[in-house]
Amino acid sequence: MTHAEQAETVVTPEPTAYEAGSNFIHDIIDEDLRVGRFNGRVHTRFPPEPNGYAHIGHAKSICLNFGTAQKYGGLCNLRLDDTNPTTESVEYVEAFMRDVRWLGFDWQERCYFASDYFERLYEYAQTLIKDGKAYVDSQTPEAIAEQRGDFYRPGKDSPFRNRSPEENLDLFARMRAGEFPDGAHVLRAKIDMRAGNLNMRDPVLYRIRRAHHYRTGDAWCIYPMYDYAHCISDALEGITHSLCTLEFEDHRPLYDWCLDQLPVPTHPQQIEFARLALSYTVLSKRKLLQLVNEKVVSGWDDPRMPTLAGYRRRGYTPEAIRAFCDRIGVGRRDGVVDVALLEYILREDLNARANRAMGVLRPLRVVIENFPEGHVEWFEAQNHPEYPERGTRKVPFSRVIYIEQDDFREVAPKKWFRLSPGTEVRLRYACLIKCNSVVRNPTTGEIEELRCTWDPDSRGGTPKDGRKVKGTLHWVSAEHAVDAEVRLYDRLFSQEDPDAADDFKTTLNPNSLEIVHNCKLEPALRSAKPSEQFQFERLGYFCVDSRDSTPDRQVWNRTIELRDTWAKIEQRGS
Ligand code: ATP
Ligand code: MG
Repeated sequence: MTHAEQAETVVTPEPTAYEAGSNFIHDIIDEDLRVGRFNGRVHTRFPPEPNGYAHIGHAKSICLNFGTAQKYGGLCNLRLDDTNPTTESVEYVEAFMRDVRWLGFDWQERCYFASDYFERLYEYAQTLIKDGKAYVDSQTPEAIAEQRGDFYRPGKDSPFRNRSPEENLDLFARMRAGEFPDGAHVLRAKIDMRAGNLNMRDPVLYRIRRAHHYRTGDAWCIYPMYDYAHCISDALEGITHSLCTLEFEDHRPLYDWCLDQLPVPTHPQQIEFARLALSYTVLSKRKLLQLVNEKVVSGWDDPRMPTLAGYRRRGYTPEAIRAFCDRIGVGRRDGVVDVALLEYILREDLNARANRAMGVLRPLRVVIENFPEGHVEWFEAQNHPEYPERGTRKVPFSRVIYIEQDDFREVAPKKWFRLSPGTEVRLRYACLIKCNSVVRNPTTGEIEELRCTWDPDSRGGTPKDGRKVKGTLHWVSAEHAVDAEVRLYDRLFSQEDPDAADDFKTTLNPNSLEIVHNCKLEPALRSAKPSEQFQFERLGYFCVDSRDSTPDRQVWNRTIELRDTWAKIEQRGS
């Protein structure tokens, strides 16, 4: 059974069952260690192709490879698998490095490039030719494809299959020397055109391609294919366990074949595991690149992107992403993980990590009529309700404050515990206020401000006479407020499986970004740094945007709301 047949629909892990998922690869390694395979060594690698930015799927692979090395006291290399010159770049290499480090892993001095092995890969190809295990085929790519056969029909031998090693060596050297146009010849492994596994039907090892490589420049006009380059790169680096995703399962015989023919230092074990797929998310660098190129998003690090750069900018923490990867485990069955699990784990992490603060996104002006002009009261606010050791801060209260527009209703519905004319609410950390009247704009009729009074005997929030007030609102003193732009994000796709659509872009959520201007934040937030997380009380988790925020003009990102509003929407829908 192939992995496609085993694929399941949506796996929704219980958010409460938050123990680490199982990992069958660790079972395999335990056994390898028990029998003394690889002399007890564990050496893995994370091998991205630098043709895009790391996404959350890569995070699974990073955590698996580096985490496995850590667990067994082994090593993990970073390897840039850069054998495809047309799509790769230094920008992507640097992004991968940054993201692996950010996730909390370290390759020490072991950062390698497949392109550094081009010369050795070429020499090994000569070895295959000399041994009669590879030949130059001079047919068109179409003819080669046609002769390959399919699942039902065996392939046919190429008329060039029996060229002598001498002729092959000569042609291969001239391919390298640039004597032939692109596509004129390929180097193929000589295996078996009748093999049940199509990958074994004389696969192409090298092709001619005149393309500038970001590292080797124009030194080469022939480039090795992935299947040939990858196994040899692994062997040259002394990798023991070569972990890759399930679609390479059918390539494993070729991986082993190449290494069996060559005098390589080691023969790593390839082990395949299930790719991560997330609901409401696209995880293909090609599609993500399309979103970037077509300016659907602002870049690879747009906070709505499932890239590590995007998550970082949005305020996700490496700890949350690692915990997520831990929780989903590593298995051999493809499935879709509910993005709500990632969000749940993020909320748990941020709830503990983020200090509390107050910010008003859509301000409504409130004048405290019995509070003297120019006077300021400083109230003590706890930074974190569960960690008193994180201390307190002073929050200024003055005659004019802002509350959230949503927290006022002129006609209060039943069970409305927030503000309305004639009622009293608590201002968080401060005091009780009562609304006396509403001032409207004479022309538009819009509410411009509320006129309220405060009870000086309720300093700290508890009135002396013990009367009960249910509602508590967040607020910010007008004269002390920091003005900010706040960006509210929602899922980038509004359908659970964007890849199932004919064009994944038709499933984009048109409301994935909402920009709110003129937000008012408490003054302590003036010095916030992009890496610092805050819970804006009653609203969610927020951080300063690392790209667009300046001290004079702060821009904040909402990382995530306090509660999962999608769960409610989906419940209502079903
Ligand atoms: P993409 O289609 O997103 O470009 P890829 O597999 O082509 O993915 P690579 O850069 O070649 O991307 O992958 C580097 C490593 O990360 C590989 O070992 C690959 O198996 C792993 N990887 C990539 N995507 C996922 C995923 N969704 N889940 C788990 N591992 C992944
Ligand atoms: Mg790829």
